[in-house]
Amino acid sequence: MGGIEYVYWDGARLTPWMKHCLERLDADLRRLFGVHLTLDSSKGIRLNSEQRAIFLDRYRPQSSGSGPFGDVRWWNGVRYVRRSGLGTVAQPGTSNHEIQGSTAAVDLADSGGSGIGTMGSARSNWLRRNAGNYGLVPEGFNFNEAWHYAVPNIFNPVPAGGLSKPEAPPLSAKASTKMTIYARRDDGLVVAIPEGGPTYNYQSAAEYNRHRETVAAVNGQRQKDGQPLVTLPPVLGSIVTMTSERLNDLIRSQGAVLSPAPVVKVEIPDVDVPELNLDEIAKKVNDEADKRARDRLKG
Ligand SMILES: [Zn+2]
Repeated sequence: MGGIEYVYWDGARLTPWMKHCLERLDADLRRLFGVHLTLDSSKGIRLNSEQRAIFLDRYRPQSSGSGPFGDVRWWNGVRYVRRSGLGTVAQPGTSNHEIQGSTAAVDLADSGGSGIGTMGSARSNWLRRNAGNYGLVPEGFNFNEAWHYAVPNIFNPVPAGGLSKPEAPPLSAKASTKMTIYARRDDGLVVAIPEGGPTYNYQSAAEYNRHRETVAAVNGQRQKDGQPLVTLPPVLGSIVTMTSERLNDLIRSQGAVLSPAPVVKVEIPDVDVPELNLDEIAKKVNDEADKRARDRLKG
């Protein structure tokens, strides 16, 4: 396949179109979640020789038995069994990481804990829903590799101006609430479960409200400074109620530290919480981000 123009991102081989798609994703990851994409040479397009090397690193010829992962593959008339826990590798010549027609694959990771490639994490769920906005297809969910995305039409030309106006969904402060999940304890208090952080038990509704006001104030400043927003707590009515078992699972799945107090299901009492106007905040942030993008293009 001579004549292909490759570009590189942290060693990952890409076409200009793939890089363009990932740049737009990266920009939104920074704005929405405060993290950035991390790539390496194994994560983009692989030449056939590289696919061979990775395959042979993880699979060994073996005439019987199915190995620790039950993963047996035939390649060039030889039976191979996977010995590595690093995941499956397609036989050379058949991988989407090699170019298949006009499609190739990328494996995504980011700079945060419990990142974009982790099944069920906040950012993984977000990208799974929005992949189409970045020209990506969330193909890896079909084989339990949440980090693996297909990129069709990899030879598309990159629009003039490179990082064009994102076709991403409008920046929404609501989207960043995905980073923290709020749940309620059996004594009626609220538990905040930030991704990767310690869980936090609010001792009263007033304390919860103070926290929300603080976060809103901090975000107001960060917005002026063009920094990523801190997680905004949702309105109290959107707090989920769940069993202690599910709640503890949730805490663990967020990579957060278990709350010292046991958490169990209760009903949500009526608490008068002033509403933050998230849409208004989101609009301000959008306008500011658009303005910055325009200024950058001018400069
Ligand atoms: Zn992959």
